[in-house]
Amino acid sequence: MIIKTAQFLTSSAIVEQCPKRKLPEFAFIGRSNVGKSSLINLLTNHNKLAKISGTPGKTQTINHFVINDAWFLVDLPGYGFAKLSKKARVDLENMIHSYVLKRENLACLFVLIDSRHKPQAIDIDFIRWLGEHEIPFALIMTKTDKIKKQELIENIEAFQNKMFEEWEELPVFFYSSAVSKQGREEILDYIESIYNIL
Ligand code: GDP
Repeated sequence: MIIKTAQFLTSSAIVEQCPKRKLPEFAFIGRSNVGKSSLINLLTNHNKLAKISGTPGKTQTINHFVINDAWFLVDLPGYGFAKLSKKARVDLENMIHSYVLKRENLACLFVLIDSRHKPQAIDIDFIRWLGEHEIPFALIMTKTDKIKKQELIENIEAFQNKMFEEWEELPVFFYSSAVSKQGREEILDYIESIYNIL
């Protein structure tokens, strides 16, 4: 898919404030610092569409971008901030959960996983919750340029094995790097393929 236009539309604090216009929507989520902003900028060919923040956890709104005047790209808040108070974390989780459950035009949720780490409970738990609610999702292993190939293969295998403990079939996996631009075409083509069957 060729990105002709990518514009910020609005930030919403709750799902009810999200745009009334119901374009097919593709959302991105992951732990804070997973590389979400960098990936969004890579996909849209913009340096600064999503803010690449030095202070993790600052974006706590649902951010809508209009792509090619045809679909919404949504930047969701990161989950799992160690630094937030318990109440702030619960509020954030509620906001994310109600967005995912209530946003009817959500076509696919991309869950970003930092490929440098062994499987983390917080990611596995979130993915399980998506499965329980039959939310369509795909996984993106980020920052693949940051580790050795062998280690990357081991981490991917460990993640997939962990998933096989409770999943019969695995979702689609993508591998991305904001540095080498790995994954850009594949992810955009996947979005296009879903868009075309809607
Ligand atoms: P977010 O908090 O999930 O939006 O993460 P950011 O996109 O702000 O990235 C967090 C940090 O990781 C920043 O210092 C980025 O420059 C860095 N980063 C993000 N993606 C990549 C990547 O693919 N490769 C490398 N080497 N660094 C990355």
